[in-house]
Amino acid sequence: MTILRFNRIAALAAAAVLAACSTTDHGAREAGQRPTNLKSTEASMWYEMETFEESLKQSGRTIEDPVLQSRMAQMTCQLAGEHCPDLRVYIVREPSFNASMAPNGLLMIHSGLLLRAETEDEVAFVLGHEFVHFLENHSVERYAAVRNANIAGSVVGSILGGAGAGSFSSLGYAAAFGGAFAFTREQELEADRLGLEFARTAGFNPKGAPAIWKNLLQEAEATSNKKKAKEVDRSGMFDTHPLIRERIALLESFAVGTEQSAEDRRAYRAMIRPHLLGWLQDVIADGDYGASLALTQRMMAQGEDIGTLNYVRARIYMMRKAEGDAALAEDALKTAVAASDVPAMALRELGQIHRARGDRESAAANLRAYLLADPGARDRALIESLIAELEETTE
Ligand SMILES: [Zn+2]
Repeated sequence: MTILRFNRIAALAAAAVLAACSTTDHGAREAGQRPTNLKSTEASMWYEMETFEESLKQSGRTIEDPVLQSRMAQMTCQLAGEHCPDLRVYIVREPSFNASMAPNGLLMIHSGLLLRAETEDEVAFVLGHEFVHFLENHSVERYAAVRNANIAGSVVGSILGGAGAGSFSSLGYAAAFGGAFAFTREQELEADRLGLEFARTAGFNPKGAPAIWKNLLQEAEATSNKKKAKEVDRSGMFDTHPLIRERIALLESFAVGTEQSAEDRRAYRAMIRPHLLGWLQDVIADGDYGASLALTQRMMAQGEDIGTLNYVRARIYMMRKAEGDAALAEDALKTAVAASDVPAMALRELGQIHRARGDRESAAANLRAYLLADPGARDRALIESLIAELEETTE
């Protein structure tokens, strides 16, 4: 299956799910509930979701990490109680900040969400929010409305048109939905409020709720994409969801208790650490340097993963190429190679910079360190020949 196909289906699935936000009260679903009338909108939606789920499994876009997977499934069950057996959790490699819970029990958690959370409590709140939409069964009505109005096609078109085939851009993706559907603020705020209660009842720190939106707001405010900046101002940003500042204020008023701790942050970071570099590379590929720098800056404040985060910062500067960026990139690379978690690529980049400048000794040393750090490097032959060249002229 092509990526484009995957995105198209994912977009439709997400459209249907996110659309949950603006329907009239449909009553809560019961555990184990399935559509009874096979000709109903709900039944056709289930059919499409099941088809999508099969393609998702084959897509190569799900993250196979037993520790992360089982923890997410466990958290979902803590929140969902008797609905737990109806839900299937997929962690999907998608840089956008999102999660969705379809009526057939398909729960997708994007890597972009896990990357931007600092604690399990923050993730738990988002899962709680999605669970409220699921529980209240709103998506069926919205799905019918979308299908009847034939909006879905244009939504998908604008997403793919705006974000390229490789991935949804986190904001473009959300904005497309926000523009296509009139989600009511009341229902979103209700999902926030009840989602927070579900998380709290399941034992999570409610402070995670405002915290995750603050993380996101910081990134949105730092965006270097003018279109996104406008969206932040108008503030429908990041989705279907209502004014982000309003949500933060409300969630803060509900979230009484102790602050999230450094210990919680460290434990969470340890869980996502194996994926950090790959997920960050997905995010920076969308070219929003301002937002990406804000994200890495915030992540560095924890004092961990200094090598990885500085390598990613160097990559951002190298792509942005603004005045002074070459020096900033080199500084970030120097910090990265001095850290215990230095990615092999940082050594190669620094070696190449020194080589270009004619600093042969240091270039050769970094390139040798690169090959030591990544013995199976695909460009080994090339690097070895560069090292040989550099050594010739040194001696
Ligand atoms: Zn929502």
